[in-house]
Amino acid sequence: MKVLKFGGTSVGSPQRMKEVCKIFLTDHRNLVVLSAMSGTTNSLVEIAEYFKKGNPEAASLVINQMRLKYDQHVQDLYSTTEWRERTYLFLNDIFSFLFSFANSDFDEKAEKTIVAQGEIISTNMVTNYLLEKGIKATLLSALDFMRLSENGEPDLPYIKEKLGPIIEANKESDVFITQGFIARNSQGEIDNLQRGGSDYTACLIGAALKAEEIQIWTDIDGMHNNDPRYVKNTKPVRQLNFEEAAELAYFGAKILHPTCIQPARYADVPVRLLNTMEPSAPGTIINNEMRPNAIKAVAAKDNITAIKIISSRMFLAHGFLSRVSKVFEKYQTSVDMITTSEVGISLSIDNRTHLDSIVKKLKQYGTVEIDDDMCIICVVGDLRWGNVDFETKILQALSKVPIRMISYGGCNHNISFLIRAQDKKLALNALSESLF
Ligand code: ADP
Ligand code: ASP
Ligand code: MG
Repeated sequence: MKVLKFGGTSVGSPQRMKEVCKIFLTDHRNLVVLSAMSGTTNSLVEIAEYFKKGNPEAASLVINQMRLKYDQHVQDLYSTTEWRERTYLFLNDIFSFLFSFANSDFDEKAEKTIVAQGEIISTNMVTNYLLEKGIKATLLSALDFMRLSENGEPDLPYIKEKLGPIIEANKESDVFITQGFIARNSQGEIDNLQRGGSDYTACLIGAALKAEEIQIWTDIDGMHNNDPRYVKNTKPVRQLNFEEAAELAYFGAKILHPTCIQPARYADVPVRLLNTMEPSAPGTIINNEMRPNAIKAVAAKDNITAIKIISSRMFLAHGFLSRVSKVFEKYQTSVDMITTSEVGISLSIDNRTHLDSIVKKLKQYGTVEIDDDMCIICVVGDLRWGNVDFETKILQALSKVPIRMISYGGCNHNISFLIRAQDKKLALNALSESLF
């Protein structure tokens, strides 16, 4: 069995939905993970924001705009009155449900429930389309098997235990359709895997079922060697090692959710990145293979804050690093980069929620300096320390960019630089010119 995930643009119109069905129906008994139609999750987030701010009139306006769009989609997707009617009724229920939040106390639970509706809508629409065509499609509710543990991480053993029997009970199905992104938390409430989380759903399901392959279908022909939103003439990379892909995803290559590669890697299920607009393009394969001596790609991660702690003693007494890291553990804030000197530590974080409390605590150990609006540039490939020359090339490329921190040696695949956000485009372009 293969797991195929189609992102928002890939299911962004009735025409695209029809084309996507052609792609996944070429094989028997695939499991298909769908995102919400592009723009829908953003609208749902906007609706939730208006309810939260106590502005149900503005929320209603956005709901009505969505409703108009979806009415047209129903007209265009189905060819029979019966399936148009069925889908209208289904959508009516969803929109009434959305309107009903005007009369309730709004909390985080309500917010998560609202943003979950995009994937529920797209999967029902596509399943109805397949059923109209006489295809034996089974819609699996992700809320029946995708669950998060108490620590907020996906509970893979639970997913495995629940999903196996569901698939087994639907042996006659031609295809399984399910929602990306949405899950239940450990209390059983509706939750999600963060924005872009449908990739993560696909990889978790692929790992749970030990699938033959996980395919992430999107609007570009695979992982490019640099960010196509900032650099011209980027090229697809044909093969990536799991670790290289994981580093690129974590450090900003938007084509993949930051943590989606891990489950595939542990289950050793290859991941293929493919283009819905050009289904015959080879895309990128992510597997265990390591191609030596190659620099594969560059990515950038935004919204980074740098923190420098200069020890109040003249030298770094033992235990200093441990005390500093305990502060970040206490505030559940993960550190992306870290460098040390005799007198201090510099590190970077991307989650500023607890920054004030963190700084207050750190001030007990020394002076603290903050640099905002930074970004991490990450170069990925075979960067084992025995290899020579690549550092010179990379540093030469960045000769015009002020560098706040450098991190190398944490793994064999990555060298990262912390720079000002305003220099990101310059740095990405300079690296492309020099490396590729
Ligand atoms: P989907 O909605 O299918 O999940 P995304 O928008 O999340 O699609 O991801 C695809 C986009 O990722 C591409 O359109 C591209 O602009 C962006 N992107 C950023 N970095 C890269 C990269 N290194 N390679 C390919 N695409 C990238
Ligand atoms: N629909 C969700 C989002 O827009 C999840 C996804 O598309 O992966 O973030
Ligand atoms: Mg995405």
